[in-house]
Amino acid sequence: MKMRKIKKFLNNQWTIGIGTGLTVSFIILIINSVIQRISILQSIYSILSLIIKFVWCVLTFGIPVWLLIIVGLTLILILKIIPEPQEQWEKYTLGYYKNWLFEWSYVEDAFGQTRINNLRPVCTKCRCDLSTNYHELYCPKCSNKYYILESNTLSDLEKVIIGNLKTGEYKLIDKKE
Ligand SMILES: [Zn+2]
Repeated sequence: MKMRKIKKFLNNQWTIGIGTGLTVSFIILIINSVIQRISILQSIYSILSLIIKFVWCVLTFGIPVWLLIIVGLTLILILKIIPEPQEQWEKYTLGYYKNWLFEWSYVEDAFGQTRINNLRPVCTKCRCDLSTNYHELYCPKCSNKYYILESNTLSDLEKVIIGNLKTGEYKLIDKKE
């Protein structure tokens, strides 16, 4: 009975953990104070912090896996819910160009490059997307009328936007509006 108890005690996760920790710490304590030529007290202090770290590790491994999974999933969920703070340039999605007011958004392509997306003229009065009857643009909401776009207006504006982003000029445009 006694032997079984001792065996059980020796095979216990805690005994192994703390026992190994203490043995290793004792050896390190001696080597540490000899090599660094510091007092035993200082050495004990540094070794004690090592032991605490070791015990902490043992305790951490004692945490059930399901709890770790729940905590992990909760953290992921929280990170998903909390929106990433928007960069200043990401707010630059509206601007006048020639005769029109344009709106656009940004998307990240498969290569991680940010691209201008859904660039379109919008109504200056109500910001509604414009429709076309091939002679002119009109607002379906407030019937405001606008010139039809020139053939390369959109590709030109895209270059202007990229240029403004590069030089930081978009910050000044932002302030004007
Ligand atoms: Zn309108």
